Amino acid sequence: MTVPVLQVRDLTVTYRLRGQRGRAADGVSFDLHAGERLGIVGESGSGKSTLALALMRLHKPPTRIESGTAMLGGVDLLKLEGEALRRFRWSQISMIPQGAMNSLNPVMRIGVLMGDAIRAHERGWNRERIRARVIETLESVGLNRTVADLYPHELSGGMKQRVCIALAIILKPKLIVADEPTSALDVVVQRKVIETLKEVQKEIGAALIMIGHDMGLMAQSVDRLAVMYAGKLVENAPIRGFFRRPLHPYSQLLISSLPTPDEVREMKGIPGAQPSLFALPTGCAFHPRCPAAQAECSVEVPTSRRIAPERDVACHLANEETASA
Ligand code: SF4
Repeated sequence: MTVPVLQVRDLTVTYRLRGQRGRAADGVSFDLHAGERLGIVGESGSGKSTLALALMRLHKPPTRIESGTAMLGGVDLLKLEGEALRRFRWSQISMIPQGAMNSLNPVMRIGVLMGDAIRAHERGWNRERIRARVIETLESVGLNRTVADLYPHELSGGMKQRVCIALAIILKPKLIVADEPTSALDVVVQRKVIETLKEVQKEIGAALIMIGHDMGLMAQSVDRLAVMYAGKLVENAPIRGFFRRPLHPYSQLLISSLPTPDEVREMKGIPGAQPSLFALPTGCAFHPRCPAAQAECSVEVPTSRRIAPERDVACHLANEETASA
């Protein structure tokens, strides 16, 4: 196995509210290889977006990175500051944020906007070289070169989202973090945009972290799936194994809440609601909602363990036997 391009270890991100401190990401660890796509799912407030913002170092007070490391290409991006961080961001790690298409500056032509991103990192490039990279990148995401001369309001939602992908890959980073990259688009456009994202990510050999709610879209888009609950990564598994046999009870409920085309069955929701990060239940945070909870679950916090190749689960009941059953 090759060395992972990204190694996140024990990443803990907290935020304070009225004198209390909650752990929005709690001891999160995972690896990601070049060209690999990792989906991160979970209910709202589970810590997915906090994790993405922390990796980009775009979190704002009262959110704070408490501890951990995130090595990207041998550099701990959690320790970068000032100019070093500015240069690293976008050239090594880029982001397609939530609602990205609404973040395009309405008074700048697309080509100027993209050119500015290049100029901020590549000071020696002349106008022709910048223009050539802008056109090449626009075409790589399925847009005509004439888009460079248009303003954002002249583009459809799908085109704007493609521009956001183009901005994220324009400096060929090692890692792209996409936070709900298609949530504002209709289903047909959504699929096309995701296909484009996958193609360009593969082409430049970048690793991709995709955050979202849509399990169906994830199933078709990523190589691995990580599930977050109340700030913790509770399962991390290759996509096929995950859908064939989810091992964490929360993952099982997430999958059983999905409709299937071959079987007409009652849709099941997940009872209860995710707890407040400021008042987590004792033991396993999922125990008040877990249909498999045992006595120890309300007392002991389960730690994430490797129970099968490339498969980590944080549940007292998960072990090698349940993984191979
Ligand atoms: Fe359920 Fe217990 Fe596993 Fe938590 S540790 S998911 S409560 S069985």
